[in-house]
Amino acid sequence: MATATASSAQSVARPKVRQTKMLIGGKWCDSVSGETFETFHPATEEKIADVARANAQDVDRAVKAARKAFEEGPWPAMDARDRGRLINKLADLLEQHAEELAALETLDNGKPIRDSKAADIPLVIDCLRYYAGWADKITGDTIPIRGNYFCYSRREPVGVVGQIIPWNFPALMVAWKWAPALATGCTIVMKPAEQTPLSCLRMAELATEAGFPPGVINIVPGFGDAGAALVKHPDVDKIAFTGSTETAQLIMRDAAQTLKRLTFELGGKSPNIVFADSDLDAAVAGAEFGLFFNQGQCCCAGSRLFVEESIHGKFVEKLVAKAKQRQLGDPFQLATTQGPQIDVDQFNKIMKYINLGKEAGAKCVTGGEREGKKGFFVQPTVFDEVTDDMAIATDEIFGPVLSVLPFKTFDEVIERANKSFYGLAAAVWTRDVTKAHKVAQAVRAGTVWINCYDVFDAAAPFGGFKMSGMGRELGEKALENYTEHKTVTMSLG
Ligand code: NAP
Ligand code: MG
Repeated sequence: MATATASSAQSVARPKVRQTKMLIGGKWCDSVSGETFETFHPATEEKIADVARANAQDVDRAVKAARKAFEEGPWPAMDARDRGRLINKLADLLEQHAEELAALETLDNGKPIRDSKAADIPLVIDCLRYYAGWADKITGDTIPIRGNYFCYSRREPVGVVGQIIPWNFPALMVAWKWAPALATGCTIVMKPAEQTPLSCLRMAELATEAGFPPGVINIVPGFGDAGAALVKHPDVDKIAFTGSTETAQLIMRDAAQTLKRLTFELGGKSPNIVFADSDLDAAVAGAEFGLFFNQGQCCCAGSRLFVEESIHGKFVEKLVAKAKQRQLGDPFQLATTQGPQIDVDQFNKIMKYINLGKEAGAKCVTGGEREGKKGFFVQPTVFDEVTDDMAIATDEIFGPVLSVLPFKTFDEVIERANKSFYGLAAAVWTRDVTKAHKVAQAVRAGTVWINCYDVFDAAAPFGGFKMSGMGRELGEKALENYTEHKTVTMSLG
């Protein structure tokens, strides 16, 4: 595997960590218990900082602050256009601090700085601006009912929302969650992932600077117990969660007691289907990017690569050559295209699956080992001749491991693509327009890409069929997650 060896002139400096406390009711504070937890740089395994660790008491304090801001504060009652202006102001501040935020993301998560700079942070800013524009455009209907009445509907903020996010796109998940909630006038208690609290805390600091009223955004860094306390809290109206299907099942159980509104954005095992009539080089590039981007730590990773049999040999050859070009190394080097996995648990999980693939008889055509001795680096790995029943074809690995599955016919590949309890995303590569749209119709997934992969936009809804989620994020659809509909009927008699 290639190793990035650029000089320090071609690297970005490590940022200073400015904020490690929790934000409750506009104040930065320690936890009630005084406890902290450590966050690490995954490329060197070195400790970065100690962060205040929230427990159920801290979550309760944060929920009370959010409730107060919702009931008494200016936030939901503020002119919607002024709410939009504040969201735009936050976007401006984030833009001014884009370099710092990108470096912080790379420090805490380990992702290559070129990705943090070119993808994560620009998408964060774009998402906030998109929803800032929605703030004063959330309207109800007038409804023609029987009798002499005037009937109309209002859309009101759902209230205090608990938002629990993962570590794979820490800052971007903050934006996907905050932006629609703020546009609709909700107040927020957010728990970032224990591995990556730093960009969230810095963004909250900039939100305070932008002038969001105290209690509108509260941050409780911590572990699963803090997340569970948020889910169980009787004064939280809604939980928005991104993470694993297993944790979503726990959340659903815990939320039953208070019948909370829930939206889930979960895992996947997305089929990427390459037909023989596709532009091969484009499909190879899409297959490589669709799986290896973000170290394979994407819920929508194209991890089941179905390749039509007649081009299979040639395709795998090109794919392997492309995978071998990936530059593993220090994520602060601009030349690096693949950083480490997030932590030792994820690293061990991935290595376990690589071994399961080898034992099951799949052909490991490149990679398959740890890279280096320090940091959680895994070689870009491609398994060929994978069959549908192997664990590497059914389970979400969440790492740089791609399974190639040859197929013969259209009907066969659709049936096999849909044979998963996940349904988050899918892609198809072909020059035949009719075939492309037939796949788009037949495949059971929330997003289908045709001759492209991982194309995201704040305006385009994203979410899963089946066990990949509930509800949709992004676009106008996400506003539904944060509003209640109220029907008002007035007698005209
Ligand atoms: P996870 O457990 O689902 O974590 C996601 C978030 O939920 C974190 O903030 C986590 O806190 C919190 N959490 C954990 N237990 C909770 C509970 N009982 N109630 C409420 N919140 C709780 O995911 P993970 O352990 O980080 O990763 C495991 C696997 O999940 C990965 O291998 C991958 O397959 C999948 N995953 C999917 C996505 C996605 O984008 N869909 C993202 C990340 C991971 P802590 O940080 O303290 O655990
Ligand atoms: Mg970290």
